[in-house]
Amino acid sequence: MQALYEGKAKRLWATDDAQVLRMEFKNDATAFNGEKKAQFENKGRLNNTISTLIYGYLERCGVPTHFVKQLDDTNVLVKKVEIVMVEVIIRNYSAGSFCKRTGLEEGKKFSQPIIEYSLKSDELGDPLVNDDYIRELGLATIAEMQFLRTSALKVNEILSDLFAKAGLRLIDFKLEFGRLASDPSTIVLADEISPDGCRLWDLATGEKMDKDRFRRDLGGVMEAYEEVLKRLQEQP
Ligand code: UDP
Repeated sequence: MQALYEGKAKRLWATDDAQVLRMEFKNDATAFNGEKKAQFENKGRLNNTISTLIYGYLERCGVPTHFVKQLDDTNVLVKKVEIVMVEVIIRNYSAGSFCKRTGLEEGKKFSQPIIEYSLKSDELGDPLVNDDYIRELGLATIAEMQFLRTSALKVNEILSDLFAKAGLRLIDFKLEFGRLASDPSTIVLADEISPDGCRLWDLATGEKMDKDRFRRDLGGVMEAYEEVLKRLQEQP
């Protein structure tokens, strides 16, 4: 059997149900638009387990997601969606490309969250776009963009609070959304939420607990992911 789709960190497989896919988390890690590559034992399991825990939590908080159920360590069933080709990034503190673009030092708290969008295109290096670009490129309607913005802000509130309880500061993160194959007028949260796509700093020490450990060769990448999982599992 061949995967329907293979990305940098996951594969998608068909199931008996035309509306449901199996999403497999790989052990591959990439950064800088695929230029830096490595493999980490247990990465697939850790990201799958963390993402499953977070999507379950978001569902319980009333946020619709593609999540159906976890199958095993590295596989989860998800609703089939057509991905909106826009990455939604929320920033609570300055970091990463925000600092590169503006010269601001890392770790400054914003008065309100910043939302930004980038085109989901490896070929173009995920360029920054705005609502007008998205509308004119036909990637999403004005109403869909409003929904994405409202949902992303809601997810940010829920997750900032959840991570804070786990002793972690949610610096920034990336979300992807999809239109349900069974009903394209319904948009749900898709992809994954894990330390691959979030910046998480230890509240007490400021230590980085996310993919920046890989990007910056800080070592202890999987140890940090394991600690994030442990702390989330300790939450009631
Ligand atoms: N991010 C991601 N995938 C991308 C780009 C960004 O998951 O293709 C996440 C990244 O891990 C960080 C946040 O979105 O938590 C903001 O990333 P930034 O724009 O600073 O980009 P970076 O330079 O870190 O790739």
